[in-house]
Amino acid sequence: MSPTTTGPTEREARKVAEAARETEWTRPSFGKELFLGRLRLDLVDPWPSNSPEQVAAGEAYLERLRPFVESIDGAAIERDASIPDEVFAGLAELGAFGMKLPTSYGGVGLSHLYYCKALTLAGSAHASVGTLLSAHQSIGVPQPVKMFGTEAQKQRFLPRVAGGEVSAFLLTEPDVGSDPARLATSATPVEGGYLLNGVKLWATNGTIATLLVVMARVPKTEDRRGGITAFVVEADSEGITVENRNAFMGLRGIENSVTRFHDVFVPDENVLGGEGRGLKIALTTLNTGRLSLPAMCVASAKWCVNAARGWAAERVQWGRPVGRHEALATKISFITATTYALEAMLDLCCLLADDDENDIRIEAALLKLYTSEKAWTIADDLVQIRGGRGFETAESQRDRGERALEAEQVLRDLRIMRIFEGSTEIMHLLIAREAVDAHLAVAGDIIDPEASRDDKIRALAKAGAFYAGWLPTLVAGRGAVPNSFGDFGPLAGHVRYLERTTRKLARSIFYGMGRWQGGMERKQAFLGRVVDIGAELFAMTAACLRARAERAEHPEGVDLADLFCQQARVRIGALFTALWENTDDADNAATKQVLAGRFAFLESGIKLPSAEGPWVSAAQPGPSSRPDLRRHVPHPRA
Ligand SMILES: Cc1cc2nc3c(=O)[nH]c(=O)nc-3n(C[C@H](O)[C@H](O)[C@H](O)COP(=O)(O)OP(=O)(O)OC[C@H]3O[C@@H](n4cnc5c(N)ncnc54)[C@H](O)[C@@H]3O)c2cc1C
Repeated sequence: MSPTTTGPTEREARKVAEAARETEWTRPSFGKELFLGRLRLDLVDPWPSNSPEQVAAGEAYLERLRPFVESIDGAAIERDASIPDEVFAGLAELGAFGMKLPTSYGGVGLSHLYYCKALTLAGSAHASVGTLLSAHQSIGVPQPVKMFGTEAQKQRFLPRVAGGEVSAFLLTEPDVGSDPARLATSATPVEGGYLLNGVKLWATNGTIATLLVVMARVPKTEDRRGGITAFVVEADSEGITVENRNAFMGLRGIENSVTRFHDVFVPDENVLGGEGRGLKIALTTLNTGRLSLPAMCVASAKWCVNAARGWAAERVQWGRPVGRHEALATKISFITATTYALEAMLDLCCLLADDDENDIRIEAALLKLYTSEKAWTIADDLVQIRGGRGFETAESQRDRGERALEAEQVLRDLRIMRIFEGSTEIMHLLIAREAVDAHLAVAGDIIDPEASRDDKIRALAKAGAFYAGWLPTLVAGRGAVPNSFGDFGPLAGHVRYLERTTRKLARSIFYGMGRWQGGMERKQAFLGRVVDIGAELFAMTAACLRARAERAEHPEGVDLADLFCQQARVRIGALFTALWENTDDADNAATKQVLAGRFAFLESGIKLPSAEGPWVSAAQPGPSSRPDLRRHVPHPRA
């Protein structure tokens, strides 16, 4: 059998994902309440703020970072597919590898808000620079060690990374992408530590990192809990080989590896958070780690606003600037209004993370999902607005003597944002799991094939009691009261809509539950739309709150928030319709047949894709037979 079809069953995969989930909600969550039909504006309004000290430190840092970022030659990174050593050195001098770390460990101590502003700035020089910093800081050593490390681990590792050593996070394997239950890299207990064996794929920073966070499976025994465990590993340990530097459609400057571990000794004191806690650490780290990619999406969106504005006002075709043709005007309006909302969502999530009153796991997940999807559409629209020049490389435009805009590069660089750190499909499932948690929690046993009859009867009674209390709350609310939310001024109508639609969304989830019961877990298309509606509602909320908070400074922001809300309402309307009018069943049935080859006649008449080699490499553990491709970046403080 091929490696793609052996391994854990779907049920086992779900169990692993469930075990890694944080099930406790000790703090309030705007996102969770939203999916339960309650627009809890009190959790996000008034717009939170950083302390004056955080603002002063953050602004001073941005002022130092900006000239360096402006000196980075993004075109050279693109051409050479490499970030030069001097850029690493400059970033290290600026403390950019420890922006979020406390000053007591040598970090800059920025708030989430200013960390993300710095990433937005750095990512605008070249997305590979943003990705380098983000992979290092959000999933590499700094964040998990800060959150889960012992004091001794913090003392050992954090000053090193704050000083400019680069780290990487290694979870993915050829056979492990979205499904960690298949994880094969092993960590065998030996005297004083563990021996790691296995092959890790696509580790960003993997070719240059000096410290690695590695996920490996400790065998379960009678006296060991075992399970997937996080290790901090010195990258120059004996037995580690960087076998490949991977190349991609975009992010050409990133240093992404295939890394082989052969009998690599890792001491006991390098286990992070305890055996079997690896996935929980990864997921919890991502609660705030997920703010980083959106910061880069915001950078790209802002760049697109500027490029679209300049070009569409100047380029004249058919007697008027192209931006004055309605077909493009709608795109420019979308780009501008959406960028406003994306930044509003990012800032709001960062500020919520900073004041630490709320649980932001759903908001951060919605942010990652929404910004990566919308930034892609924005960049695609920009390519269209630029016409043939949108498809042309910046280098070619420069060679022809024109202003060089990297629209095609921005599109290529953005594409991966919808895939890594949780693909859109996985984000839909993850958010839906939380969103309908209350429902599934009560309905779980009703549909569980392994539950006994008594369990099912008990579950039915529990479900009845839950819905009896909850349903009436979805019938009426402030959104139906004329003139309510008056303090939002011209945006009050949108806020009333938000309140009404939040209840409608929860009612729709309830109808779905009634129709499919626990089987709703499998209705991925339905759940995806539910989550997308939630994301639009969150984006509208953030846009309205931002506009009101910044009214004195940017009164024109109110118009952008209004525009964004008008556009979002049209999309939400279409999503609600598609909840019940769609081709999902037909698509499911047809795809079964597509996969079985029934329509293969369609593929005739072309040169077909290569059929050589396995779909997924076998990744057998063992010694490496390839040269070590590690790149040694001189460390400025060494
Ligand atoms: C440039 C780049 C950088 C990366 N950096 C890192 C890194 O630093 N560290 C690291 O560990 N990994 C890294 N990755 C790996 C990345 O996180 C994975 O690519 C991602 O998790 C998806 O896994 P996969 O590619 O194996 O896709 P698969 O898991 O094989 O998924 C294929 C498709 O199926 C969908 N799918 C899968 N499961 C389900 C499901 N249950 N329901 C519905 N749809 C589903 C997916 O959304 C996707 O569309 C990187 C990848 C790239 C390309």
